Amino acid sequence: MDSEFEITVLCLFCQVPLQAEENSQFESGDLIKCESCGEQNDYDSVIEVAKEQGIDRVKSQVEGELKKTMKNLFSV
Ligand SMILES: [Zn+2]
Repeated sequence: MDSEFEITVLCLFCQVPLQAEENSQFESGDLIKCESCGEQNDYDSVIEVAKEQGIDRVKSQVEGELKKTMKNLFSV
């Protein structure tokens, strides 16, 4: 399996990846402070953006697999 990928959670203000302390847990409604610009990122908004990013990645991965499958079909 090579489908392992990491979703980077970016600061909504400066686009720098947000660093969470280890074992820190965030919940809906929490604010995540950006180490780079010091802004407070709304957890829910950050997750929404990360989800969309994840969906895009999965989509392009699926498209890549489909292309391979199609090639194999036609090269038989
Ligand atoms: Zn920032």
